[in-house]
Amino acid sequence: MNILKTLLIKCSVLPYPIDRQQAENLNQHYEREDIPSLIILKPNCEILTSETDEELISTNAIEKWTESKTVFWTPESRNSSGQVWLDIYCRTCYMKPLVGERYGCPNRECSYDLCAECYHKITKENEHNHELIHFLSPKNKYSIEQLLDYSDLISNQNERVTLKSYEGKYIGLYFSGLWCQTNENFASDLAQVYEKVIEINLPFDIIFISTDNSQNMFNKHCQQMPWKILPFDNYVTKLRLKTYFSVSILPAFIILKPTGELLTKSGQRDINIKKIEAIQTWCKDEKVEHSSDDFVWSSVTCDGCGMMPLIGKRFYCETCSNYDICTASKEKGHEHELILIAPLDEID
Ligand SMILES: [Zn+2]
Ligand SMILES: [Zn+2]
Ligand SMILES: [Zn+2]
Ligand SMILES: [Zn+2]
Repeated sequence: MNILKTLLIKCSVLPYPIDRQQAENLNQHYEREDIPSLIILKPNCEILTSETDEELISTNAIEKWTESKTVFWTPESRNSSGQVWLDIYCRTCYMKPLVGERYGCPNRECSYDLCAECYHKITKENEHNHELIHFLSPKNKYSIEQLLDYSDLISNQNERVTLKSYEGKYIGLYFSGLWCQTNENFASDLAQVYEKVIEINLPFDIIFISTDNSQNMFNKHCQQMPWKILPFDNYVTKLRLKTYFSVSILPAFIILKPTGELLTKSGQRDINIKKIEAIQTWCKDEKVEHSSDDFVWSSVTCDGCGMMPLIGKRFYCETCSNYDICTASKEKGHEHELILIAPLDEID
């Protein structure tokens, strides 16, 4: 929006003398919510673009508009057999959404991405300030080594471990940070289950991928971890994995087959409910099945007994609104009719 303000100041904007009602009508016609807002019309009054604050990132925006072209362009769908990166565009050719291989700056503030063609045309003069990384396409399959970029791991004693020791094993990628409040219970559940894995010698291992903000927090977090850890400074691999598996809710526990293929993203829920049984199921190359009696409503509290999260059948009262209770609380009685809510589908 700042760029837009600058533009309005730089260009000689001619105020159009209209009254409040006319302004209101225009506003309604173009469905404007935010101001300042700039809409580009063609000479025949058709809208050329209203994505102007984004388009103004290009210094050629006005030139393009006067040629009746928009800055952003969308590749034709028949050519787009590659990954479609929604909301991501190429900072050089302005392909939007970016399709195919994606190279990007790991610093989120930059929000700088390039398509393959533009990436290979980089010269010393137009180089970005930071080194760009090659993102893994969620459409493609990768081996465990490729996913982890052949990086070494460390133990909590800081000993190096190569990925070779993971051959033939099912892998749980454990994403979390010490700042993450719901992590503590899960971490202790996981540690107990892991002890069992070693004891009965299951072909399963865990790799921790930290989202801690500092090396100190990371060290503190890793102290108690019996499994292997991706080193803190390997932020490139971390970012690539987070993007590849679109990890947004933490802690996350993502289960991979020995080939690197995804088995399930619901590892955390499965461990919560089934403990070691979950891992035994994964090692048979199967997903864990849940009945509605053990479904965990992760962000719902029972308004009857206070159970948090609510586990099992969830009943909702439309009259009270925002009122959910568990089976036990329902049996104690409620003055209105209750609706049974169906568990959400697998989050995979
Ligand atoms: Zn490009
Ligand atoms: Zn950057
Ligand atoms: Zn209850
Ligand atoms: Zn009610």
